[in-house]
This record gives sequence, structure tokens and C-alpha cells, in this order.
Amino acid sequence: MRSKINPEISSARLPRGHRIPHSDSVRISKVPAEHLPAERNSHSLVRNNPNRPLRIMKFGGTSVGNASCIQKVIEIIRAALTESDIVVVVSAMSGVTNKLIEAAVQSEAGNREAVACIFAEVRKQHEIAIHTLIHSDAKRNRISQQMNVLFQEGERLCEGTMLLQELTPRARDSISSLGERLSAPLVAAVLGENGVVSECIEATELIVTDSYHGGAEPWMDLTREACEARLHPVVQQGIVPVVTGFIGANEEGVLTTLGRGGSDYSATILGAALNADEVTIWTDVDGLLTADPRLVPDACLIPEISYREAAELAYFGAKVLHPKTLYPVMQRGIPLRIRNTFAQERPGTKITPEGSANGGEVTALTAISDAALIIIGGPGLVGVQDVLGRTFATTAAVRADVLLISQSSAQNDVCLVVPTTVAKRTVEALRHEFAHDLAHEKVEHITLDSTVAIVTVVGQKVRGTSGIVGRTFGALGRENIDVIAIAHGASACNISFVVAQKEMKAALVATHQEFQLGEAASSVLKAGTAEPATWYYESARATAEAD
Ligand code: ADP
Ligand code: ASP
Ligand code: MG
Repeated sequence: MRSKINPEISSARLPRGHRIPHSDSVRISKVPAEHLPAERNSHSLVRNNPNRPLRIMKFGGTSVGNASCIQKVIEIIRAALTESDIVVVVSAMSGVTNKLIEAAVQSEAGNREAVACIFAEVRKQHEIAIHTLIHSDAKRNRISQQMNVLFQEGERLCEGTMLLQELTPRARDSISSLGERLSAPLVAAVLGENGVVSECIEATELIVTDSYHGGAEPWMDLTREACEARLHPVVQQGIVPVVTGFIGANEEGVLTTLGRGGSDYSATILGAALNADEVTIWTDVDGLLTADPRLVPDACLIPEISYREAAELAYFGAKVLHPKTLYPVMQRGIPLRIRNTFAQERPGTKITPEGSANGGEVTALTAISDAALIIIGGPGLVGVQDVLGRTFATTAAVRADVLLISQSSAQNDVCLVVPTTVAKRTVEALRHEFAHDLAHEKVEHITLDSTVAIVTVVGQKVRGTSGIVGRTFGALGRENIDVIAIAHGASACNISFVVAQKEMKAALVATHQEFQLGEAASSVLKAGTAEPATWYYESARATAEAD
């Protein structure tokens, strides 16, 4: 399948050179089949060299944020190529997606100068990297020209938005996708510069999705076929594909995006489609930590964790993984690792079907700060038919993820929590759905409070261990933190509760301390190796907020 977006670029191949000169080339040693990860399933594509494991390596925005970071990425890929076939997935350089979305928004508002300014900044960021990393004039010109075509396309899309004074979801996706479409050819060119034969491939050629712009879902069968036809032969030829994260295309070839932070999801989608042996997410922290280190400074590395726990952490806000990252690999038993691009010697976190046998009752905490509480209430609610069914049908119709729900039987109030980004449209849709009941005072109110946060306690044994709920609320009580709502029991391994946004950090710190996560996690490391997780803090701090 071909993309309708910029066919010149998507079909263009970066100079492969011929076979890499021997002295410069990456040595390839064979790994015996018995060293392949045991969890792997058997329904694999037939690969040319079944003895070499296939790894998907995804590098996030900070990992490709500037020339020196990209140089580290190249080292990691070169080292990995000695024993595996590699498919690389890259995010946009850090800060770029945010800037592009800002350009799209400014275009809709008609602010031509602001848009030009943003494009100038993004161009500069890429040009500096090209000039530092690519040494021959001819190669530099070639990649600069490729990027020019992309910048012109972005500028045209912004022009169109200005003209229409409307930013359609499709245009927003196309504009925000430019970051990955720029970083992938850059990384491929730098790999070439370093003797690794590589090819940039746009994921519009690989990941087939539905048409839901801004949060598209993959059609896995079609994606598998596309990967078999387009990606697999490239790997077979010993070429390293560098694939754009974050994006896909619908069946008509129209570009879609998988949602913010979606490059992690791209990596596991490709991992599942190719039945890879492992997927590694390279980022700016040592791995999955017991809490977000920006909020809980003594957060520690979790060496091994189960799919289930990691999926809960991702879903309930741990930014290190896109919420849907785990699903594609869970179904196939493909292990996922999280590692630090800036501390390559560290083992990172391994996410496996069963997780660690030594884990404590509580493994980690996470929080969603931008949550909104909606309450549908009133004493007359008891007489309203099918309140829950109608509520969920409505939230589904506006594609609002319900993060938590609780219901009181006395008052018959129903309370649900959704991401703030969808709160307004959810409340509007609910008021529309219950308009008749509101008019007849059966439903008294549908209220919205956008100043809440959800805190989630995750652990394999959360449900089976008595006292965890008590200890959690005891710790919160000691800090005078009010719990607004709670959900527990549906999942075997989490407790989620709602607090005021301004108390979220204190709630995390108190709970982290109560379960001694700063110490418990490191105690599963061998004695002597326990140390607090480090992260690429100084430079990451500036960018972790800004993708
Ligand atoms: P990338 O650009 O590599 O995709 P992200 O910024 O999306 O990286 O994710 C990495 C960030 O996630 C870290 O810098 C950290 O601040 C944040 N984070 C939140 N929760 C956790 C957690 N439990 N473990 C590790 N990192 C976390
Ligand atoms: N660049 C995209 C974003 O910032 C996707 C990603 O980084 O994973 O959301
Ligand atoms: Mg990310």
C-alpha cells in the first residue's frame, strides 16, 4: 500500500551505497537459536536468517533531540547489529511535535508570522543536526533537499488551514506528523554516514489504521501484510529500516496519527506484525520506575515487571509508555524492554508475561493529572431507565476514555472520570442524552470538575493482599489528603483514587513512602548493585514536558 502523502519522499530511498566497506562495517555474528527469548510464539514470518533475532528499537524524542543524542543512538544500533537484525522506530526530535501543533493552531487563528517563526525554529533544529552529523557536501545537500520538500508540504498545509480558518483533524495529523517524517530520514542518513546501510520508511506504508484522526487504531491483519511486503524484504537484505513513529495511514492511504506519545505504540505494532523477538523502548530514564521521577525524587528502577502491571501503569499515566503500548506484544508474548539511551550499560526494565517472582505487593504508582470528574446526579435518578447503559453509550460515541467510575446507591449519583481533553464534549453529549430527564428533574445535575487527578497503586498482589487499601488511605489521611472517589476490585492489580490536582504530588509521595518503594524496588537488585535510578535529567527536564 502506498501513502498519498508526499509520494516522492515515501518512495525515495536514501543512498544505500553498496555493501559497506569491510573496515567500516558492522560485524555480524550469529546467535544460536536456543538463545532466542523463550517467550516467543511460533507463528512467525519466515525470515531469511532465522538464527539472528529480530529486535525493534524505538528511540524517543529526547534520544534524537540533538546531534550528540543521535550519535549515541547510532552507537546503540551499531552495537545491537552485531547480534540481531534491527528495525528502528524514531520519534520527532524533542519539542518538535509540540511546535508543529502550535503552528497548526496558529494557522487556524490566522497568525501567519507566528507560523513562520515556528517553522524557522524547527528548520534550524534539523539543520544544526545535519551540519554536525553529515560531513560530505553531497550527502548534506541530498538530505537538506528531502527535508525542504517536507517543510514546503507543512507550510502548504498551514496555508490551507489559514485560508479555511479551520483546522481539520486530518490537517492537524498531517502537520503534527512532520516531526517523525523529518527525524527518520535524518537518522537513516546518519546511520549511512557511520557505515550502516539503512533506509527510511514512512509508517504510512506499514501501519494500516482506521480513520480516527488523532488516535487511530491499527488493523493488525492489514498491517502484517504491509509489513511482510515492504519491511520484511528490507530486513532480509541486511538493511536497517528507520521507520517513522507516531503515524499510520487508513486504507485509502490518508495519513493518521496514533495519539500523542504514539511512537511507543508504533514500535510494538511493528514488533507484533513482524513477530519480533524483542521490542526495546530507548528513552531518557533507566527504565520503568516506581513512580514518575519528576514527582517522586526517590523513585527506583523496577528490573522486571509483568505485562499486566506495566499496562496498568501505562494506561494510568506513566508517560514513559503510551497507554496502548503493551497490547500488541502481550498477545504474542514478545518481551518489551525499556532502556536509557544515555546510560547504555544499564540493564533497564524487562516487561514479561509473568513479571518478577520477587516483587512486593505494590510495585509502582502512577498518576493522571489532567483528569475531569463528571457527576450525573439527583434523587430522581433512581427512576431513570438504564442510566449506566446510556452514559457509556454516550461516552463511547464521543470516544471518551472512561478512566474510572463509581456509583452511590443512596443518592444514585454516578461519577466518572475522563481525560480533560475530552471533558467538555463528554458533558455536552451527556446533557444532550439526558435532556428530557434534566427537563423533568429526574436528573438534577450533570457537573464537571476539571481540577482532579487520579492516583493509581499497581501491584500483582494488590487484590489478594489484605491491608493494602487500608495502608493507602492511612497514609493519605496522615497527610490530610481527601479522597474524592475510589475504584478497586475490577482489576486484580490496581487501586485508583481521585484527589484534588493540587494534592496529587503529596499523595504520590505519601503512598510511595508507605510501601517503601524507594527501598523495595532496589532490594530486588543483587546486593551491591542497588542504586537510585538516574535519568538524563538536566537536558531531559527541559524536554520531558515538551515533545
Ligand atoms: P520519550 O521521549 O523517550 O518517548 P517520554 O518523555 O515520553 O520519553 O517518557 C519518558 C518520561 O516519562 C521520563 O522522563 C519520566 O519523566 C516520565 N515517567 C513518568 N512515569 C514514569 C515511570 N513510572 N517510570 C519512568 N519514567 C516515567
Ligand atoms: N512525536 C509524537 C509526540 O510527541 C510521538 C512520540 O513522541 O511518541 O507525541
Ligand atoms: Mg514518549
